[in-house]
Amino acid sequence: MKQGIAFGIYSIKDNPKRLAAKIQGQIFDLFLLAEKNVFEALKIDNSVFENDFLNNFISLGKEKTNAVIQILKNINLEEYSSCVVLKEEADLHLPIRIGDYTDFYSSEQHAYNVGVMFRDPNNALLPNWKHLPVAYHGRSSSIFVSGKNFHRPKGQINASDTTLPGFSESKRLDIELEMATIIGKNNEIGNAIDVNQAEDYVFGFSLFNDWSARDIQRWEYVPLGPFLAKNFFSSIAAWVVPIEELASFRVDAEVQNPEVLPYLKEKNRKNFDITLEVYLIPHSVKTHTEVLMCKSNFKNMYWTVAQQIAHHTVNGCNLNIGDVMGSGTISGKTPDSYGSLLELSWGGKNPIALPDGSTRTFLEDGDTIVIKGYAVNENYSVDFGEVRTTILPTK
Ligand code: CA
Repeated sequence: MKQGIAFGIYSIKDNPKRLAAKIQGQIFDLFLLAEKNVFEALKIDNSVFENDFLNNFISLGKEKTNAVIQILKNINLEEYSSCVVLKEEADLHLPIRIGDYTDFYSSEQHAYNVGVMFRDPNNALLPNWKHLPVAYHGRSSSIFVSGKNFHRPKGQINASDTTLPGFSESKRLDIELEMATIIGKNNEIGNAIDVNQAEDYVFGFSLFNDWSARDIQRWEYVPLGPFLAKNFFSSIAAWVVPIEELASFRVDAEVQNPEVLPYLKEKNRKNFDITLEVYLIPHSVKTHTEVLMCKSNFKNMYWTVAQQIAHHTVNGCNLNIGDVMGSGTISGKTPDSYGSLLELSWGGKNPIALPDGSTRTFLEDGDTIVIKGYAVNENYSVDFGEVRTTILPTK
C-alpha cells in the first residue's frame, strides 16, 4: 500500500540538523537526496535541507514543496539506500520554529462535556460557542517535541470560591488530545483570509498534547481564560504531514445550526478522517504495557480548520509561517472517545480501572502518555507518528 509522506528534523550525534522525510516507512535524509541532485529541476538551494527547522522549506511555497513531495513519491527508493537514516541512530527534533500559538476549542462534544461538568447541563454551551470558534492565545516557548518530559507544575489552587487559595503541586494533571495546524503562508496585517481559501495557508498537521493542570485552571481562568494551567508544557509530534497528503481522507463536516455569519460560511465543508488514540503506560506497570484510554477522530470538529483561520484573521490579525493552531480537545460522541481525563473520569468522579488493578482519575508521577494518529483507506495510509511524554515529579 502507498504511504503518505511526512517531514521532520533529525540529527545524528553532534552533526548538523537536517530535514528528513518519512517515505514508505523509512526515514530519508533530504540533504543527501538534494546532494544527489534529486531536486535539481526545482532549483532549491541545498542549505534549505540542512537546517534546524522546516520553516525555510515551507517558505519555498506550496508549488515547490508539493513538487518535492511528488519527486519523493516517484524516486526508486532502493537506488537511494545510502540516504536512509537508521531510526535507532537518529534524534528527532522540534520540526518547526514556532512563532505564535493559538489554541481553539472546536469539538462540540468536548465543549458540551466541560459545560455540563462546570456549569449547567441545560446551558452547557456558552451563547457564543456556535457562532464563532472560541480560542485563546497560548505560549509557544513551552512547546516541546515528543520524547521530552516535564515536571509536574505547581501553582495557586482553590477548590472553592468561598475559601482562600493554597499553593501546591497540581493534583489534577491532565492531557488534551489535539491536532496542531502548521501555518504555511503569511497574510499581511490588515488582510483577512477568505474561508474558502484558508487551506492554502496550511502547510500540514501534527499530533499535539495540550497538557493542562485542571486545579490551577479552575481558580485562574475567570475572566481572561487559561494562563499557568496551560503554559507549563505542551507536546508536539516530530512529524508534520502536509495537508495535500490527506486529500483522500476528507469527509463532510456536520451541517452547522444555527447558520454562521457569511465570513465563516464555506462552499465545501470538510474535515479530515484521522484516527487518534491516547495510551497510558502506568508507572506501576513494569512491562510498560500501553493501555488504550480513548479513541477519537480529527473529523469530530464542529469548526473546521478553514473556519478557524478565517475567524483568526477576520480582524486583520496576521498569521506567519510556523505559527501553530491547536484544534482544541477532540472528543467524539461516545464516552470512549473523550479526549481528556477530565471527561473520561467525569471530573474525577469515575476512576478509570487499569489492567494492573490500579485506577486513574488524573495522572500520577512516572505515567507516560502516548498519542498516536493515522489515516487508512484501501489505497493509501498516513502515519502521524506519536507524541510520547512522561510525567516527572515536581521540582
Ligand atoms: Ca486545549
